[in-house]
Parts: sequence; C-alpha cells; structure tokens
Amino acid sequence: MPDKIIKSEEEWRQELAPEQYRVLREKATERPFTGVYYHHKGEGVYRCAACGNELFSSETKYESGSGWPSFYAPIGEENVESERDVSHGMVRTEVLCSRCESHLGHVFPDGPRPTGLRYCINSAALQFDGREDQEPEG
Ligand code: FE
Repeated sequence: MPDKIIKSEEEWRQELAPEQYRVLREKATERPFTGVYYHHKGEGVYRCAACGNELFSSETKYESGSGWPSFYAPIGEENVESERDVSHGMVRTEVLCSRCESHLGHVFPDGPRPTGLRYCINSAALQFDGREDQEPEG
C-alpha cells in the first residue's frame, strides 16, 4: 500500500492542467465522448493523472457505450476507494484514487463479467502508461 499523498489545493492547481484539476479535485465530469481515452486501445496501465498511482489495466477496459472509459475492475482493490455520492439528485458510488484521494469517476453495478461492475472513469483523471496500439502497416 503506497503512502498517501497530501497536497494543498493550491499545489494541485499549479501541477494539473485546468481540465484535470476540475475533474480530479473539484469532482467535475468531462462531457461524454470527448475524453482522449474513450476509444483508446493500448496495452498497459492507466495511472492516476494526479499522483501516478496505478489504477486500471488495459486488460479490463471495455466498450460500454457510455462515452467514458470503462473498466470492469481496478488493478487492485487497494488502489481505489469508493464513497457514497448523493450529489445531483442521484445516489451513486464515487471512485477515488486511494493514494491522493482525487476524484476519478463512479462505479455502477451494470458491468460485464466477471465482476458485474462498470468503473466509469474520466479520461482527464488518467494517464496511460504502456504500448500504444500499432497503426496498421500499409
Ligand atoms: Fe492519485
């Protein structure tokens, strides 16, 4: 279990791009179908864009049709935290990075096997680390 990373909002604001800050620290949701990782395919790991904590493996990424990158499991149970979220007139489960407590997205019980979970994550909260899908040769 990595040590917690605690920074002031001023520090986060200086380190993160404005859209990243809005999502990670202010719990904003990026507009669907706009994020850079929605259609992204590659082999590797999606890290927390704020602290680098490993969050999701490309092996659990799937096409949910929701407009946001979707995964059926985190890379490890201890890598994310969840919290009840009653904002916007809905009852949802918020997903946070366990290391820096940044907002990532939400988890819903309508995912595919084997977990039945859909981790609906903002692209702005992620940083891909791995091998990009190869362009077809031509
Ligand atoms: Fe983090």
